[in-house]
Amino acid sequence: MSCSKENLNKVRILIVGSGIIGKFNALELSKQGFKVTIVDNEESKNSSNAALGILMGHIYQKRHGRSWELRKVSINLWPKWINYLRHLNSKLQIEKPLLQLTRSRIKFEKLKQFAGKNLKEKFEIIEKNSPKLKKIHEIFESNDFQGLISYEDGRINPRLLLDTIDLSLKKNHVNFVKGRVIKIEKKQKKWIGTLENEKELIGDIIILCNSLNSLELLKEFKHKIKLKPILGQAIEILYDDDQIDFLSLPKNFNIDGKNFIPLTNNKIILGSTDENSLIPEEAKINQLTEFLDNNPKWMNKKNIIRKWFGIRSRPDGEPSPILKTLDKGLIICSGFYKNGILLAPGSADWISKEIKKHL
Ligand SMILES: Cc1cc2nc3c(=O)[nH]c(=O)nc-3n(C[C@H](O)[C@H](O)[C@H](O)COP(=O)(O)OP(=O)(O)OC[C@H]3O[C@@H](n4cnc5c(N)ncnc54)[C@H](O)[C@@H]3O)c2cc1C
Repeated sequence: MSCSKENLNKVRILIVGSGIIGKFNALELSKQGFKVTIVDNEESKNSSNAALGILMGHIYQKRHGRSWELRKVSINLWPKWINYLRHLNSKLQIEKPLLQLTRSRIKFEKLKQFAGKNLKEKFEIIEKNSPKLKKIHEIFESNDFQGLISYEDGRINPRLLLDTIDLSLKKNHVNFVKGRVIKIEKKQKKWIGTLENEKELIGDIIILCNSLNSLELLKEFKHKIKLKPILGQAIEILYDDDQIDFLSLPKNFNIDGKNFIPLTNNKIILGSTDENSLIPEEAKINQLTEFLDNNPKWMNKKNIIRKWFGIRSRPDGEPSPILKTLDKGLIICSGFYKNGILLAPGSADWISKEIKKHL
């Protein structure tokens, strides 16, 4: 089939799951002219809504392999997508830079080596005595942090992103269906997704973007895909003190794997945990509030005003994510255990190329 926009409009794509991965696929494919339907039963509780939105692209240290390739594509695509989406919401932006800090001398040496090997990247090493760390050291009541500034990494507000994509999908005539797909099957070269209310949705191509639940839909098929849940909790802290202004801190920073996002002068977000479970464990919150040797007084459980969690899916026995054609017209795009927000444009790019092979 020729890939003219007119022809693509005859191809029906059914996307199951409307988290960031399903939405980005819908965005890319509807922009190209495909006739897209996206179905979801409960998107407000998905992991995309729980995400912090940190985009750790350039600062990723493993610079080879499939995951790095996907990151590279995403890094290149993000500015183009921001430009495109900003026409619908001018507030959408990537807040840069990102600081990666550590108390460990060994980790700091590794960061220095990494920066030394990647001189083309916009990195800056910050030693303990750097004036750029003055506020952090003051507010964290410590003098121990050092690390790296990555001027091209940062954070996007995930809720704003998801809402803006929705506007774009509506504009591109994407059909939204609310419902849970309970079965998929192939009939006369078409894919049918059956909902709980027995309604049938038809696609020439079906893309499973429903994270952990994609396994349920594949039960009848002989695919050896294994996914396990990884729950992540995050918290918001409120601390009123004239001496502490969280907005005097960098916009996004990470200390030994914990991300901090100042929201206002007295509120700050902190996340996230990694739990092999489907139910959030109260005790795991300590991993967020007690990971430093000397906790500053504001980083205390009693100051938590909001906490939330999301459940991600992690491939078992193969690397994350799972991007695969399982049958003609059946594609899986799941297992985004971490960095799903960052990787969404790269995955949508992969999907759009893969789909052309099915036509
Ligand atoms: C606390 C936390 C912090 C995070 N921080 C970051 C971060 O800073 N940066 C980053 O890049 N990533 C981050 N992530 C990871 C990121 O959120 C995930 O990688 C990403 O959201 C995965 O997106 P998804 O679309 O695959 O899954 P989801 O967002 O979970 O979406 C799957 C959707 O499928 C739907 N669904 C399931 N079954 C069915 C069915 N049978 N029929 C119809 N619909 C169905 C669900 O309702 C859901 O809406 C974080 C995650 C958590 C939990």
